[in-house]
Amino acid sequence: MLDRELDEIYALGRKYSEAPRKGWIVKGSRKRSNETIEVSRDEVKGLARDLHTALYCEKAFLYELSNLRHYMEQIARQIADNEGGLKHCAKCFCDYLETWLDGKCPYCEAAEAAASMLKGSVSSNDV
Ligand SMILES: [Zn+2]
Repeated sequence: MLDRELDEIYALGRKYSEAPRKGWIVKGSRKRSNETIEVSRDEVKGLARDLHTALYCEKAFLYELSNLRHYMEQIARQIADNEGGLKHCAKCFCDYLETWLDGKCPYCEAAEAAASMLKGSVSSNDV
């Protein structure tokens, strides 16, 4: 689902960047960034709505992830107070228990898994 949406957004970005020039926004400046292009109003409104939704979801997800990581670290510290086994990741500076994921840092493992899932997707920097 995410890959399909990214592909559609990438395709729209390519379409807009290759759209024929219709004129200049400010007369006298012939820079490419000053060009106007003709695109469908509904298409632009839809793209703006989708972008707003995506940015909102991204921010909400980051706050949720940050809180979840904080709670996991609190749980790890509370368990380690009684049983020991607290580890501190030198890479991401988070605390976790050595019994979790065979001693591997769960936060770094999750970050690597997310990165590998997105690896095949197009980058917005390509547009
Ligand atoms: Zn880590």
